[in-house]
Amino acid sequence: MSDISAVATRIRFVLVRTSQPGNIGAAARAIRTMGFARLVLVAPQRYPDAEATAFAAGADAVLDDAVVVPDLKRAIADCHAVYGATARQRNVALTEYTPREIAPRVQADALAGAEVALVFGNERTGLENDELALCHGAVHIPTAADYSSLNLAQAVQVLAYELRIRLLDNPAAPPPHRTDPPASAGAMEGFFEHLYTTLNDIEFHKGRSPETIMLRLRKLFLRAAPDERELRVLRGILADAQRMARLARGGS
Ligand code: SAH
Repeated sequence: MSDISAVATRIRFVLVRTSQPGNIGAAARAIRTMGFARLVLVAPQRYPDAEATAFAAGADAVLDDAVVVPDLKRAIADCHAVYGATARQRNVALTEYTPREIAPRVQADALAGAEVALVFGNERTGLENDELALCHGAVHIPTAADYSSLNLAQAVQVLAYELRIRLLDNPAAPPPHRTDPPASAGAMEGFFEHLYTTLNDIEFHKGRSPETIMLRLRKLFLRAAPDERELRVLRGILADAQRMARLARGGS
């Protein structure tokens, strides 16, 4: 059997505000069986807990190494690609993928040296809007239209399984869509702020809602996932547009 560990070490599973420790244990087991190891717990309601250990059923090492952080921002601070798993469909702000579609992207990102996070929400409420806003894409497991919510650990299992199959079937696949890692989440946010002020400077909005435009543009650029060099070119264009706008206003 091929060794998937080189890629697996760059992939973390992030569980946000999990309420049932049993689900944390079952998720650890799901991760471990598929050859992954990295679990990050964002503000778990009960942890550590005997129930988590019991449900992990021997995948204790994953639990022992789990990193606990207070918020999602901290869980993904060093990540380049962040994908949020959602039970609900038709997310306006993010491009949506199936697990099978996301697997080659995750593989390519990791092969290019990126740190990748797969983010899962609370059992009852899922991921909040401000948590989804930190994600670069959404993953939806296709379900029955009228009942779309899987158990948390089972959703983790499905994503981990699809990733494993991809890695086993294409162990040395060349990155299908990139050679450099995508720019960091922080660099992307810096770019979006620059874009926002530039659109104001060139009086782009003319009565239209800047928020709606920014959501559309975020979706576009997060789907494209530019690398640092590409981002520098884009920011150079913005800086020139700002300079021209200043000149047009008669400034220096
Ligand atoms: N009632 C919640 C469901 C939460 S289930 C809601 O409507 O959002 C707990 C977590 O499991 C979700 O936040 C998501 O990360 C994952 N999950 C459950 N069903 C999923 C599906 N069909 N596709 C992708 N992720 C799913």
